[in-house]
Amino acid sequence: MNNISVIGSGTMGNGIAHIFAQNGYNVTLIDISQTALDKALLIIDKNLERQIAKDLISREDKLSTLTKITTSTDLASGVKIADLIVEAATENLDLKLDIFCEIDRNAPKHCILASNTSSISITKMASITKRSDKVIGMHFMNPVPVMKLVEVIKGYSTSSDTTNTVMELSNRLGKIPVKVNDYPGFVANRILMPMINEAIYALYENVAGVNEIDTVMKLGMAHPMGPLQLADFIGLDVCLSILRVLHEGFGNSKYAPCPLLVNMVEAGALGVKSKHGFYDYSVNPKEPTVSERFLS
Ligand code: NAD
Repeated sequence: MNNISVIGSGTMGNGIAHIFAQNGYNVTLIDISQTALDKALLIIDKNLERQIAKDLISREDKLSTLTKITTSTDLASGVKIADLIVEAATENLDLKLDIFCEIDRNAPKHCILASNTSSISITKMASITKRSDKVIGMHFMNPVPVMKLVEVIKGYSTSSDTTNTVMELSNRLGKIPVKVNDYPGFVANRILMPMINEAIYALYENVAGVNEIDTVMKLGMAHPMGPLQLADFIGLDVCLSILRVLHEGFGNSKYAPCPLLVNMVEAGALGVKSKHGFYDYSVNPKEPTVSERFLS
C-alpha cells in the first residue's frame, strides 16, 4: 500500500493527510474548495513546526512529509491510483453516499474505501458500492497527529482481509486500532455523547453552572477536560447530529438531545468554531471564560 487519497481537508482531513505522509505514504488530499486545501497545507506546516519544536521530528522529516502531499479539487482523478481512500468530508449522509458512489466508480478495484465518519452507518455507505467487502470505518480522533486511537468499524459486509489490513496499517501509523462493529455511534460516541448530553441537561435544569459541572468531571473523574468544554471543541452541531443518529438508530428517549443543545445550535452558538458555546473564545481562545449567557 503506497498511495492514499484523503477526501475533505478540514479539521480531520488535514491531520489524516499529515500522519500518512509522515509515515512515508504518497498522499493526495482532495477537497471541493481550493481555499480549504490551501488552509490545510498551512495547518500541516504549522503542526510539523510544532513537532520540530518538541524534538519529535527533524527539519528533514518535515520537508519529506510535505513533499509527499499533493492536492486536488477533482475527486475522480484524485482517487485513480489510490490503494486506500479515507473519506473525511462534512458529516452529511447524502454527501457521503454521493462520494462513495463516485469513488467506487473511479478507484482501482483493489482499493479499500474507508470513512472517518463519527456516526453514519458504514453498512449504508458500503451498500451503494460494488465492493461492500472493502468498505470500512477508520475513525481517527481529533487532533489526529496527537491522539493514539483509531476506532476501526467493521460494517455488516466488511471482510476480515479488509479489517486486518486496516488494523495493521493503523499500527504502522503509530496508532492503536480498536475493532468494533457497526451500530449507531460505534463505541466512542455511543458512550461519550450521552455523557455530554447529560452534562447539558444538568446545566439546563440548573443543577449547577458551566464551571461547576466541568470542574466536577475534571477533578472528580480525572477527565482532562470537562464535558461542556469538550462539546465546544467537538462542535455543538456535530454533537447534536450524533445524538440524533443515536436517538433514531436505537429509538430510545435516553438519547434525545437536550432542548438547550438544540437551541444553541439553532442560534449559531457552535462552540470553538463560532467562538461561542458554553464558553466564550472570542477574547482569549486559550483561556476561555464562561459565556455571558450562562452567568447568572
Ligand atoms: P470539516 O467541516 O472541518 O471539514 C470538512 C471538509 O470537507 C471541508 O473542507 C469541505 O470543503 C470538504 N468537503 C465537503 N464536501 C466535499 C466533497 N464532496 N468532496 C471533497 N471535500 C468535501 O469537518 P471535520 O470536522 O474535519 O469532519 C470530517 C469528518 O470527520 C466527518 O465525517 C466527522 O464526523 C468526522 N470526525 C470529526 C471529528 C472532529 O472532532 N471534528 C472527530 C472524528 C471524526
